[in-house]
Amino acid sequence: MKTVEDLFAGARAGRMADIARLVSIVENEEAQCADVMRAAHLQAGRATKLGVTGPPGAGKSTLVSVLTSAYRRKVPRVAVVAVDPSSPWSGGAILGDRIRMRDSYLDAGVFIRSMSNRGQSGGLARATRRVVNVLDAVGFDVILVETVGIGQQEIDVASVVDTVCLLTIPGAGDDIQAIKAGVIEIADILVVNKSDRPGAEEVVLDLMQMLKLGMPRNDWRVPVIKTSAAGGTGIEELMDAVNEHRDWAARGGEAQRRNADAMRAEIHALLREQVLRDLAARLDAREVDALVNLVVARELDPYAAVEQLLGR
Ligand code: GDP
Repeated sequence: MKTVEDLFAGARAGRMADIARLVSIVENEEAQCADVMRAAHLQAGRATKLGVTGPPGAGKSTLVSVLTSAYRRKVPRVAVVAVDPSSPWSGGAILGDRIRMRDSYLDAGVFIRSMSNRGQSGGLARATRRVVNVLDAVGFDVILVETVGIGQQEIDVASVVDTVCLLTIPGAGDDIQAIKAGVIEIADILVVNKSDRPGAEEVVLDLMQMLKLGMPRNDWRVPVIKTSAAGGTGIEELMDAVNEHRDWAARGGEAQRRNADAMRAEIHALLREQVLRDLAARLDAREVDALVNLVVARELDPYAAVEQLLGR
């Protein structure tokens, strides 16, 4: 079996099998997960991490596919992580069937992985963060993270990337309402896709109005970019906006702050896991059973049982 170092060496050299193996280890929290993450941490931090989110049908996968090709013309290595909290499938099965990604599949500089919610202990966002960190560490220049929908899971996943693009489309009145209801806060860039369709200009004006009314969270002016993923227009403008946001975030300390938030959350999560493990190792199963019986008999309340177990 290959060691973690072997896998990293292979992955950095572009061996797809080694990249896929490392990603699986951290996605599924296999035994070597901690070793991989330790090694990854020291080498990550270079990639451009871009989130693409929005309601189903807005054109996310089409846009991600077009962005993949466009970035690939500028940089050697691009990774796509497609996150679908509602899907029971994982491991690339869905994307494997996506005809539009076939060109990318044939490109040795492109790695694609889809992830779903299979009860990862720390949640899907944390698993996604691990996967993105590993891809960053093995040398991907750009990592695109596509999430379906605009629920809490997607908002959490958005915290994994540096720049979040939120897609909407002409004629999607309800989506605009949903965006108004708070999701707009996660967007660094608003994208009106399918701008080849009538009504795009109205959506742009609607969104601009909304942005004007909303409280600015900082001095970043969220741009509204019109794209047609299917027609390939607006892609350069979108990429320029992504660059501008990245530069702004680096200049004003926003990138640093987001990163610190993420690291703090990870340390807290690891701490919780470790404390629980330590505690579990110290507990005496017979003592627990005895206390359970007392609680069942209503001779003791559960709070008192916990106090007793903790030796207070
Ligand atoms: P997703 O569910 O957000 O990933 O959306 P898809 O990328 O699967 O796109 C949904 C449908 O919209 C597909 O039939 C696409 O071909 C189509 N589509 C995507 N982008 C555009 C666009 O810019 N213009 C038009 N007219 N159709 C598009």
